[in-house]
Amino acid sequence: MGLLDDARELSIYTAYNTNVDAITFLDEETVQGLIDEFGAEAVRKRMDEYPREINEPLDFVARLVHALKTGKPMAVPLVNEELHTWFDSHFKYDIERMGGQAGIIANLLASLDFRRVIVYTPHLARKQAEMFVDRPNLLYPVVEDGRLTFRHPREAYRENDPIKVNRIFEFRAGTTFKLGSETVRVPFSGRFIVSARFESIRIYTEPELKPFLPEIGLQVDGAILSGYQGIKLRYSDGKDANHYLREAKRDILLLKREKDVKVHLEFASIQNRELRKKVIYNLFPLVDSVGMDEAEIAHVLNALGYSKLADRIFTYNRIEDTVLGGKILVDEMNLEVLQIHTIYYIMYITHADNPLSEGELRSSLELATTLAAARASLGDITSPEDFKVGMKVPYNEYGEFVKLRFEEAKRRLRTREYKVVIIPTRLVRNPVSTVGLGDTISAGAFTSYLAMLRKKGKL
Ligand code: AMP
Repeated sequence: MGLLDDARELSIYTAYNTNVDAITFLDEETVQGLIDEFGAEAVRKRMDEYPREINEPLDFVARLVHALKTGKPMAVPLVNEELHTWFDSHFKYDIERMGGQAGIIANLLASLDFRRVIVYTPHLARKQAEMFVDRPNLLYPVVEDGRLTFRHPREAYRENDPIKVNRIFEFRAGTTFKLGSETVRVPFSGRFIVSARFESIRIYTEPELKPFLPEIGLQVDGAILSGYQGIKLRYSDGKDANHYLREAKRDILLLKREKDVKVHLEFASIQNRELRKKVIYNLFPLVDSVGMDEAEIAHVLNALGYSKLADRIFTYNRIEDTVLGGKILVDEMNLEVLQIHTIYYIMYITHADNPLSEGELRSSLELATTLAAARASLGDITSPEDFKVGMKVPYNEYGEFVKLRFEEAKRRLRTREYKVVIIPTRLVRNPVSTVGLGDTISAGAFTSYLAMLRKKGKL
């Protein structure tokens, strides 16, 4: 646990998105019931149309069945607030817990006993605040009498803040149902997220806090920023995505003003191509590190104009294409480090002059997959000791195959100007939950990366 102990000495800032996750564990009857309610033909037709937003129940059913067929985790925005009653009448929620990348990462790092975790989220209703773990190292920035102070989020909530509830449908590999004459068997465990996208929820730093971002930057060793997928193209008060992205850029520059604090951006799926492109072009060049999953790298490449490569990644999931795509992204956005996680492997791509050796980069990924395996086994990580549970989880059965394909890819592609490392994932066969595993991987990878930079005097 040496590397984890080094990482735990760090102080981390994380913003912006938190929400309440209302989780339903899907069973076969429920899925079948939904298909029968709308009719297999109608569901199939809507699946072909592939709605990007959920405006009516059939949009939901179609995208859910699509996710079940592929077994891939997906998130689709819910834009029609009235559908809450439909959801409430069709599902009961088994668990309510912390959701949103910033919230999940804050709880994870605080539970791992990091020196200090400063979490900022622009909306902090009481119920949201109660989702934070009760740890003294977890702090929320508050401006009082013109000065920056910190309180535990549970002591900093604001009664009238809006609250965002995402509905999460966890599904299990092996679940079987009929779509008309077709029998569908879910290939992987995962989750389908219906994410609330309403006017009142915004991604930004409140104007009173903004001037203190340089001071926060000084106090931490790294920042993990996420939630940009929650920005809408337009708001009824006239503000738009350009406005919020300009502010997001300013936030990063302010955090880095007094000290070049390393910033990791955790990228999540953005259904709208225009917004996706804006987030990439505005923010990637300003951050040091980016993390994403395989579907997201394909989307990003598509937005950058590499549609053939993106299609290949979507269709064949070949390591060689992901390495190629990663190289392109690292170069075009001049990232210090890009981390891509998939179900079977995790990868880092950096420029050749990265201060860490390939072995060190690998050990950072090892820590990341071990943490995720611990979380998948336990459902949550509540103490540093939980890490050991992850160490007992075996590498996935394709581990050797992954290494072989990777060596082939390296031979075929020019990789001399880069460091590219890959490790197979430790995969839990029956995960308690799959929510937040990607965030866990990225938080584990980035913080252990920082810890090693620090040891070398490069932080
Ligand atoms: P994301 O799609 O960003 O939520 O990331 C999910 C990641 O979590 C995958 O890429 C895997 O590396 C990891 N993961 C998914 N399922 C499991 C599991 N059952 N056990 C361990 N790790 C998992």
